[in-house]
Amino acid sequence: MNKIGIIGAGVAGLSVAIRSAIKGEEVHVFEANAYPGGKLSEIKSGEYRFDAGPSLFTLPELVDELFELAGENPRDHFEYSRMDPICKYFYESGLEITAHADVEKFAGEIAQKTKVPFRQIMKGMKKSQELYETLAPLFMYKSIHKAKTYWSREAFNAYPKVPRLNFLRTMHQENQQLYGNEEVIQLFDRYATYNGSDPYQTPATLNIIQHLEHQLGAYAPKGGMIAITKALFELAKRKGVHFHFNQRVEEILTEDKLVKGIATDQGQYKFDAVVSNMDMVNTYRKLLPQAYAPKFLLNQPKSSSALIFYWGIKKQFPQLGVHNILFSKNYREEFRQLFDQKSIFEDPTIYICITSKYESEDAPKGCENWFTMINVPHNQGQDWDQLVREARTHLIQKINRQLRTNIEELIETEEILDPRSIEAKTSSFAGALYGNSSNNMFAAFLRHANYSSKLPNLFFCGGSVHPGGGIPLSILSGKLAREFMDEKLPA
Ligand code: FAD
Repeated sequence: MNKIGIIGAGVAGLSVAIRSAIKGEEVHVFEANAYPGGKLSEIKSGEYRFDAGPSLFTLPELVDELFELAGENPRDHFEYSRMDPICKYFYESGLEITAHADVEKFAGEIAQKTKVPFRQIMKGMKKSQELYETLAPLFMYKSIHKAKTYWSREAFNAYPKVPRLNFLRTMHQENQQLYGNEEVIQLFDRYATYNGSDPYQTPATLNIIQHLEHQLGAYAPKGGMIAITKALFELAKRKGVHFHFNQRVEEILTEDKLVKGIATDQGQYKFDAVVSNMDMVNTYRKLLPQAYAPKFLLNQPKSSSALIFYWGIKKQFPQLGVHNILFSKNYREEFRQLFDQKSIFEDPTIYICITSKYESEDAPKGCENWFTMINVPHNQGQDWDQLVREARTHLIQKINRQLRTNIEELIETEEILDPRSIEAKTSSFAGALYGNSSNNMFAAFLRHANYSSKLPNLFFCGGSVHPGGGIPLSILSGKLAREFMDEKLPA
């Protein structure tokens, strides 16, 4: 039995902790916050409750898998339902599109409202499905840092399809060719933002993402997104994982090119192996001597961040669903400002998530909990106080215009999260939501492996390493880290 130290109780840290405890290891998780979940946590404001970060839940079977591995029935501890409709899209032109869970109904709705032929929408969906079926078994479920991945059945299935996998054109170019209608292109270009990237730079291969939401489905956990964290935290405790909250790890202790343990603000602990769920850049810069840093990976451009206004709204809006998008008039300019100017466009695309539509306890009667988010650059020393002030004014103007309301007078409570507070609460480098951005064709290969090439008993999980950010991929990063631990640690 090995004694394992895990830095961080994010969803990836919980994933690797549960898997390790099931194997019979002694597992200790050190978490700087007083609570588990990292980005997947919650905020309370007056009588309102908000999920703090993620709001879209896909691939729920990856959460279920952890219970099944532990010999438990997931439905005894964690429930969710498939969402229908998935999302409502609002354009400045007055166009409104509803994303129904049934793909053909969704395609029919787009065709009817935009004149893009139904068969073209279905063609795009099928291409996205082919991308997923070809690439997910390789890039999501396996480590691309293992030679045998490239000799696997899944790899030989993918090789003949490489010309169709769209590494060489951008997502926007591909969607332009497929749909030829600005509003529909914008709808599908938005999936680049799901890993903090720019549709005008990211390869069209990332059209894979839309398949998760539109075909494999979007889900609503009973109790809100926080139910995922609560269920996994309780499972970890049942499996004997030891949690040390309010303990920030300050150093990974090394000796003779081996990790010996960790030092926290409260003491030193010896471990046979350590797993970092801390952002990869901050792990190297803050916890390890410079000698071990893979500088090329650390210096890759970072993903976007988010600015969120958690608003308690003393009114209900029947025209809104759980997930709502109010699109910018000029998407190209929005991304130019985001990635080139490192600033915020005056007409940003706004995402409003209202969980009180299905969890009535999240807001008082007759009211709604608005998680109102825009994409913003990661922190590079901008004047955030001013940017947040300006963005708030622009958001309010846009919401008033598109929903014909006066939202400011309906805001009862307000909390704000910006790139600075995201980094402070989760140690994500510069507040970037997904580690490195995917704005080039090699991005998948420019993520850190789930192990250290210099220290054989140091492992990595989380949204900043392979296979990437988002809840499903972070959970999978825990699985891949554990697979490397099985190979590299004594049984
Ligand atoms: P984190 O959640 O960042 O957890 C890391 C943990 O490690 C934190 O608790 C931190 O306190 C702790 N830690 C770090 N350093 C130390 C240290 N030195 N000592 C002790 N503890 C430490 N994903 C989706 O799937 N769907 C969405 O809709 C979605 N929307 C998002 C919206 C926002 C606003 C944000 C912020 C994220 C969103 N994501 C979404 C991404 C998703 O939340 C993350 O990819 C995922 O939760 C990352 O989990 P993680 O375990 O890698 O890291």
